[in-house]
Amino acid sequence: MKRIVAMMLGATLAAAPALAQTASPPLQVALTMDDLPVHGPLPPGLTRAEVARRVLAAFKGAGVAEVYGFVNAKGLADEGDDAAQVLALWRQAGYPLGNHVYAHDDLHGHDVAAFTAAVTADEAALKTYMGDADWHWLRFPYLHIGKTPEKRRAAAAFLKGQGYRVAEVTLSFNDYNYNAPYARCLARGDTAAIAQLRQTYLDQAAESLTIGRQLAQSLYGRDVRHVMLLHIGGFETVMLPDLLSLMKARGVTFVPLAEAEADPIYATNPDTPSKGEGSLLDREAAARHVAPPAHSPDPAPWLDGLCR
Ligand SMILES: [Zn+2]
Repeated sequence: MKRIVAMMLGATLAAAPALAQTASPPLQVALTMDDLPVHGPLPPGLTRAEVARRVLAAFKGAGVAEVYGFVNAKGLADEGDDAAQVLALWRQAGYPLGNHVYAHDDLHGHDVAAFTAAVTADEAALKTYMGDADWHWLRFPYLHIGKTPEKRRAAAAFLKGQGYRVAEVTLSFNDYNYNAPYARCLARGDTAAIAQLRQTYLDQAAESLTIGRQLAQSLYGRDVRHVMLLHIGGFETVMLPDLLSLMKARGVTFVPLAEAEADPIYATNPDTPSKGEGSLLDREAAARHVAPPAHSPDPAPWLDGLCR
């Protein structure tokens, strides 16, 4: 009915929102995957290497040209050859690796000196697997960029001095929360619960795209190039094909990280008022007192109790 009225009004302002919605330009998104090579409990029957094989097959099957994998090299010490194969497979797929700090050491739980030492400790693995290719992208663990301007400035100066760029995030739906319940539900053969997990994951993913686009419009008055945060893990072997189909159906085109981060929104300033946590859009919204779009309740408590 609304649409018919708008058509009858012809080229008036009333018609503009409907037209804008149907003619949305593609949303450009860079995909990134954190916590390589070891993250979350393994579902029965899977190895870390098999998780990587299936995840990479899903990305390749959807024609994704680049997915940055962010590495916590401690996983290599913890789980040996199985973990090492994850990084080797990532590189064989032609995808790059970046720094996610040696033991996932974050800037809120550690002082700057401990943090920078842990960044450096991650580099031997990056050099091994990246060879001559550039690996100077850093993803802050827990997206903690420092609670104070002093800490943010110190970390930013160190990273810049070492030639790093920060891999910011604009889209996230806490995909890591599904690995543990999936492993539990699979172990007890609860297919109904797994179906609920799948639907919730997809609903949350779809909502993150909607909210990311709305928030970018509120903050910048336009679509921006996005960076989506994913985590390697057992449930992604099940969900990635559906996630990537959903994104394509929603008009997403996949772009490399450097292309996404060439958008001027990523020229961040450590002095921007911030608690130093959340996505770039979350931090900007808080700094500018922009109310975040409405979202559905966090499924984390439900996920935590499932299949116990
Ligand atoms: Zn992480």
